[in-house]
Amino acid sequence: MNLILLGPPGAGKGTQAQYLIERYGIPQISTGDMLRAAVKAGTPMGVKAKECMASGALVPDEVVIGIVKDRLQEPDCGKGFILDGFPRTVAQADALQGCLDQLGRGLDGVIALQVDEDALVERLTGRRSCPACGLGYHIKFDPPTVADTCRCGTGLVQRDDDREETIRKRLQVYREQTMPLIEYYQQAESLIVVDGMLEIETVRDDIQAALQAG
Ligand code: ADP
Ligand code: AMP
Repeated sequence: MNLILLGPPGAGKGTQAQYLIERYGIPQISTGDMLRAAVKAGTPMGVKAKECMASGALVPDEVVIGIVKDRLQEPDCGKGFILDGFPRTVAQADALQGCLDQLGRGLDGVIALQVDEDALVERLTGRRSCPACGLGYHIKFDPPTVADTCRCGTGLVQRDDDREETIRKRLQVYREQTMPLIEYYQQAESLIVVDGMLEIETVRDDIQAALQAG
């Protein structure tokens, strides 16, 4: 199963990726997670990406295209993959198509999660995650059992770019650079539009039903 999760920041891509990993036994490829790891490790790529990410801008296409191309060729992608947060520009979508053609693989679905902008801001400002195991939470919609603490016992953290000013910039970047991909994949006939405003489990079931129907 070769999938793309498409949608604005906060739409629920990472949340839904967790269910798809379990269901299909395929890895999530989150360019955001990979870039954050590179920033933390201080690699040359991380140094390049750091400022763009902090300001809410996109990291240059050639940087992300390079990491995704390498990642798709790793053995655990043999059964499939879930791209989360990639592609984000038409240039990235074209590069992905070229890469998949070379590998002799196609896309089984591009799941577009649709969520209103006010809801996105509320989701992103309330998002927390575990720095140890990576599990995601929301202070209101998916709260931890013990306040501010992951079920693994580690204190939860908030992403630096999940502050209102940076969120507004990221949403603008989404509208300008990523939204054209909806039309792109509609023309390629791989688009599956899902109402991402519904509850987490309902969205999960709707995605599952759409993939089974396809
Ligand atoms: P993305 O990966 O698209 O940026 P996330 O999956 O991290 O988004 O979700 C953003 C925040 O919204 C998280 O705190 C998550 O718990 C919460 N969330 C995800 N899906 C829903 C939903 N359907 N309803 C309410 N909150 C949600
Ligand atoms: P995310 O975790 O998907 O919200 O991404 C966090 C940040 O990483 C974005 O605001 C961008 O700065 C950067 N980023 C992640 N994926 C991409 C991508 N495909 N293209 C360019 N920049 C990206």
